[in-house]
Amino acid sequence: MNSVPKPPPKSPPKSLITPATFAATEYDIIVGGGGPGGAAVATLIAQQGYRTLLIERSSEPAFKIGESLMPATYWIFDRLGVLDQMKASHFAKKYSVQFFSSDGKASTPFYFRDHDDHESSQTWQVLRSEFDQMLLDNAEAQGVEVQRGVTLKDVLFEGDRAVGARVSRSVGDSIDLASRVFVDATGQRAFLAGKLGLLEIEPRLKHASFFAHFKGGFRDQGVDEGATLIFHTDGRKSWFWSIPLPDDTVSIGVVGDIGHLILGRSRDPQKVFEEELAHCPALAARLEDAEQAMPMRATRDFSYRSSQGAGNGWVLVGDAGGFIDPVYSTGVFLALKSGEMAADAICAGLETGDLSEQSLGSFLARYRDGVDAMSQLVYAFYNPSFSFARFLARHPDCRGELVDMLVGNVYRKPLARIRAALAEEAAPALQPAKAGVSTAIDQIPL
Ligand SMILES: Cc1cc2nc3c(=O)[nH]c(=O)nc-3n(C[C@H](O)[C@H](O)[C@H](O)COP(=O)(O)OP(=O)(O)OC[C@H]3O[C@@H](n4cnc5c(N)ncnc54)[C@H](O)[C@@H]3O)c2cc1C
Repeated sequence: MNSVPKPPPKSPPKSLITPATFAATEYDIIVGGGGPGGAAVATLIAQQGYRTLLIERSSEPAFKIGESLMPATYWIFDRLGVLDQMKASHFAKKYSVQFFSSDGKASTPFYFRDHDDHESSQTWQVLRSEFDQMLLDNAEAQGVEVQRGVTLKDVLFEGDRAVGARVSRSVGDSIDLASRVFVDATGQRAFLAGKLGLLEIEPRLKHASFFAHFKGGFRDQGVDEGATLIFHTDGRKSWFWSIPLPDDTVSIGVVGDIGHLILGRSRDPQKVFEEELAHCPALAARLEDAEQAMPMRATRDFSYRSSQGAGNGWVLVGDAGGFIDPVYSTGVFLALKSGEMAADAICAGLETGDLSEQSLGSFLARYRDGVDAMSQLVYAFYNPSFSFARFLARHPDCRGELVDMLVGNVYRKPLARIRAALAEEAAPALQPAKAGVSTAIDQIPL
């Protein structure tokens, strides 16, 4: 019997990652993740002359959700040195946000400049592939070693102290790099909080979202052209965003309870999206002549926080430390802001040699207070008995502070009045998710 000829022995895969891939094997800082949070923290630390490496797993700029900015990003763009690039960009200028009730009635737009007539009251709606790349290019120009196509595989510890990262470019190919501080900025992947078992899902915001880009459709003109529009569906079981982007493109997404959007519904995100759109005539009318420009995408369980934001030799930045909810477009702002605050704490620690949890996490109480303020407004939005009109009728003196929150001024102003008013009337109506429901829902794949 003839035996089947043996295939020639496979040569071991060519190593794609070697010490020569990197400028060094020891860094002051290694940042995992090249979104806005990672780019901000890396840039501000490199500005102080520290040896900074940023690794980003995607080798090319790619589609990402999170396109509407808050005006308070202005001050961080200024520190990063990208304000002029933002001003010269083709991104739509956003002056306001407007809400539509479940019967299609439009609120008066909340114009940011009505409260503070400064150029920082205008912000942008961005294409994330371009925006993230711009921030990475800027980081590189300011001294950060940016390595695309490199994946964080592990954070290295000696005892409870982070001492570096294991990184790779292809399967089975890795290298260990040392750092004095490791910053996790891996977004919703939340690498380190996941590894250390620190993630806590927000039980009151167990949501899913379906979204895509569309071309054409009705577009407001003038000062309203770049506005974010938020539409409740009839019955208020879900809501849509509409975010105008360059080239007559608009980002449309629906958000709702996992129990409503997924349980007992079609497994086809496109079908669920269309069913929800049928419950939102005000938006459907605007999209009548629009064409969908990409396949429908889906995500779920995006609201969580890490119970610890820093440790000995490590810090979490942006979504890697938590995310509230998309409704007020807080994500990119909070990623940039936590990156800024973390950078200041890390530079102070590098200066004194104190890289303990206490030192690196010295910004967290203030940072979390701002997150808590925004969370109050998010909880109010999902309270079925809450409406902005009724709230402002009862608390007319809160209008200015409400605009401040929509601007993202949670670190610039105390906002005591509106926080007390929200605590008084929105929070008590909230019910935590029923015990046991989450496990059943978690088993349903999107
Ligand atoms: C449905 C929805 C709608 C949203 N809409 C808005 C909005 O309109 N406006 C807004 O401001 N925010 C919005 N957000 C939130 C926003 O997308 C995020 O908060 C923001 O992108 C966080 O920035 P980041 O830098 O922390 O993380 P990201 O932008 O997610 O960046 C993390 C980076 O880490 C990289 N990475 C992950 N794992 C690894 C690894 N192992 N190794 C190396 N790299 C890795 C990823 O490729 C990614 O580039 C929305 C979120 C959701 C869920």
